Amino acid sequence: MDNNNNYDDHNNFEDHGDQSDYSDYSGYSDQSSHSDYSDYGEYGDYNEERPRKRVSRKTLRTRQLTALAVIGLLVLILIVLLAKACSGDKKDSGETKKKQTTSTTQTTTSSTADPSATSTTTSTAPISTADPSLSAQVKLDKYTMQLYPGEMDMAWIQGYPEGSYEENEVWNSSDPRIATVDGWGQVTAVSPGECYILLTFDNAPGVEVQIKVTVYPDEGQAAPGGETPAETPDPNALPDTDAEPQAANVAEAPAPAVENVEGLHYFQDILIANKSYSLPETYDPGMDPICEKQFEALTDAAAKEGLKIYKGTGYRSYSDQVVIYNNYVTLHGEQMADVYSERPGFSEHQTGLVVDCNSQDDSFGYTPEAKWLEEHAHEYGFIIRYPKGKEGSTGHSYEPGHLRYLGKEKATDVYESGLSLEEYLGIDSYYH
Ligand SMILES: [Zn+2]
Repeated sequence: MDNNNNYDDHNNFEDHGDQSDYSDYSGYSDQSSHSDYSDYGEYGDYNEERPRKRVSRKTLRTRQLTALAVIGLLVLILIVLLAKACSGDKKDSGETKKKQTTSTTQTTTSSTADPSATSTTTSTAPISTADPSLSAQVKLDKYTMQLYPGEMDMAWIQGYPEGSYEENEVWNSSDPRIATVDGWGQVTAVSPGECYILLTFDNAPGVEVQIKVTVYPDEGQAAPGGETPAETPDPNALPDTDAEPQAANVAEAPAPAVENVEGLHYFQDILIANKSYSLPETYDPGMDPICEKQFEALTDAAAKEGLKIYKGTGYRSYSDQVVIYNNYVTLHGEQMADVYSERPGFSEHQTGLVVDCNSQDDSFGYTPEAKWLEEHAHEYGFIIRYPKGKEGSTGHSYEPGHLRYLGKEKATDVYESGLSLEEYLGIDSYYH
């Protein structure tokens, strides 16, 4: 390419362009060497943008059109982005509004319930006149329940409002067609749907706590007992839910070998005492000395980490259990007694292989001691026998401090499996 060619081109352009442009070019046209090309910039935009090679009129027009198209496209994109941003704002403000409305009608749940409960429930919560700061004094061990029709559950109260006690509890259901609740807070699922169980206190106005109850259809895929059954179905749950809910965790494997020695039921050499397998009235072994010794080793180890674990109930005889169970029945009725106590012969404490640690209150579960037990009990041969979320398989309410001695090897195996003992052995636990 040479200089002349370029000049020709400029001439061509001159025919269409305005005169002033051209006059710039004429100045340029006197340039004779390539090295002077760098001066183009001084002559204005046209010179800057145009390449040095020869460009036909047609190409030029194509380029202009292309440039126009690109600009048009950019403007279009800008408009689309702006429109999107605007609609986003609208959506956001709409959501905020909705949130604000729900929070005014549902102050209690948002202040006391766990986050998972609030996120899924706000729209259907009943109107409440609760005072959130007062209501926050009440602590429950759970704020959601997932049940099948006929199944029962209960939330433990771990903190009462000042001056209120058990006898001040007032329980109500927002929809008794879905779930009913008795005077003690025992919830019974009636039919599929969602409702709220409301806890108030007859001497504490403004205090109200809600429990969201979800009742699944009998054919439902979700396993009962878990916190979020729809998301994390229990791998051991059978799809057939016609069976008793407690039996849902029985493994698909062939029936486990049970060794019945004089009325005692052993599975994999583990003596079982649960709602399905009882101990004879005459079984009176006292506290197992190895269990006791291992528990001492455990408390010593915890003490070295500054944690105080102490022994509560250990061995409990059949006749002790008769007294305890009957007291419960007298106070709370048989139904309640069956949920929170064991019938005589069905308590694991009668094996002599159990230690209850520290407080019997569920709130023990939130202490560093309980956390340490969860991580280290197996190293001394113990398992947390009634873990949270495993109530469906153990047939027993959560008991953070109830340790069962299995020996180090078995306890470690059960611990590592992440299963309850019933799931691990493939057995059930319910009153037949
Ligand atoms: Zn216990």
